[in-house]
Amino acid sequence: MLERGEVANSWRTERWDSLRLLTPNWLSRLPGLRYEGPDPDGYMTMREVTEFIERFAAAARAPVRPGTNVTSVWHTDDGYHVTTSRGEVGCRAVVIASGACNQPSVPQFKDAVPTSVEQLTPFDYRDPAKLPDDGVLVVGASATGVQLAAELQRSGRPVILSVGEHVRLPRTYRGRDVLWWMDGSGVWDQRYDEVEDLTRARRLPSPQLVGTPERTTLDLNALASMGVQLVGRWAAVRDGRALFSGGLRNVFSLADLKMRRLLETFDEWARMHGRDAEVDAPERFAPTRVPESPRLQLDLRSGEIRAIVWATGFRPDYRWLDVPVVDAKGQLRHEGGVVGSPGLYALGLPVLRRRKSTFIYGIEDDAREVIGHLARYLARPGHRR
Ligand SMILES: Cc1cc2nc3c(=O)[nH]c(=O)nc-3n(C[C@H](O)[C@H](O)[C@H](O)COP(=O)(O)OP(=O)(O)OC[C@H]3O[C@@H](n4cnc5c(N)ncnc54)[C@H](O)[C@@H]3O)c2cc1C
Repeated sequence: MLERGEVANSWRTERWDSLRLLTPNWLSRLPGLRYEGPDPDGYMTMREVTEFIERFAAAARAPVRPGTNVTSVWHTDDGYHVTTSRGEVGCRAVVIASGACNQPSVPQFKDAVPTSVEQLTPFDYRDPAKLPDDGVLVVGASATGVQLAAELQRSGRPVILSVGEHVRLPRTYRGRDVLWWMDGSGVWDQRYDEVEDLTRARRLPSPQLVGTPERTTLDLNALASMGVQLVGRWAAVRDGRALFSGGLRNVFSLADLKMRRLLETFDEWARMHGRDAEVDAPERFAPTRVPESPRLQLDLRSGEIRAIVWATGFRPDYRWLDVPVVDAKGQLRHEGGVVGSPGLYALGLPVLRRRKSTFIYGIEDDAREVIGHLARYLARPGHRR
């Protein structure tokens, strides 16, 4: 196992200080290792996640070679040749487990933003103190964007949040964590070959969730009540002005509708499986409030905002992979983790084999199947030593 940093590197180096997992402790499990502390319904801090993964690596006796950056992998007659910062490796098969979120994904028009405005990505952001004391524009209203918008607004900085397509979820539903419902009802177990539109499912933004000791819901209504100003999707920069799309009403009602349908699925599951008595009565949530007249423009030179935080998603980085299996959008082409080059496999990508694939607890089922395929591949007669 080649790792450019240390075990749990992304949790150590690529996350902001206040982040906690959005998956509750009881759900953040790895094969043979579960949370056994006093707060199963809580959410791990970054230090706790790092310790948890370190514990797993030690228990599993994972043969990790830390500080080993892979700089190229190419196909040879009998497998793969891997070049690393610590020398060359030959192997018959490779599992790409380098993560789905190696780089922030930021629109091209960032280059047209005036230099007087500081630009950050979640990789640069650590806490509000790193930003100027003035207004901030947070772009993107999925898990990262809503969390950073709330933190910055609480720090006293006026925040404008640019909202595109998003997934609205309450933190708790009928007295249980919403992810208890996702897990129990089997929504996150849906397999990649059963999903209607796989390309879309793989691009779906993360849900608007935050892990706090108070189990607070952090949807757009909560943010608006805190004073965050909501604007539409940032479409372009023209003459130093940010231009926002005007379709907020539609974007909000689509997210509300999808949430309602999901909650109905949960209700149906509880009814069908005799779970109604364990949970509270069904709840319905107020629609997302549309601002009276959302602004369509922001003069980036006016001084109203001095910083932009791009919470516009992440993408993988395969610049080190010299095998032609990456598409024009930079995504790996694979069928449930089996990449179209013999002996090449992937794990940890969105909806790799199930909707839960990119969550910590999602790895177990995926890994069993992908590694099963790999073992069969290596056992083929031509591959026996
Ligand atoms: C902001 C954020 C919040 C998240 N919150 C949650 C959550 O609450 N709950 C949850 O279950 N999941 C959460 N996730 C998803 C989480 O990232 C995954 O569950 C999990 O980390 C995936 O593990 P992984 O090992 O596949 O990828 P990663 O954790 O990204 O690990 C990939 C590893 O590969 C190494 N690497 C990459 N390239 C190279 C190279 N060329 N050479 C050598 N090493 C390399 C990296 O250093 C890294 O250590 C979150 C993700 C993000 C970005």
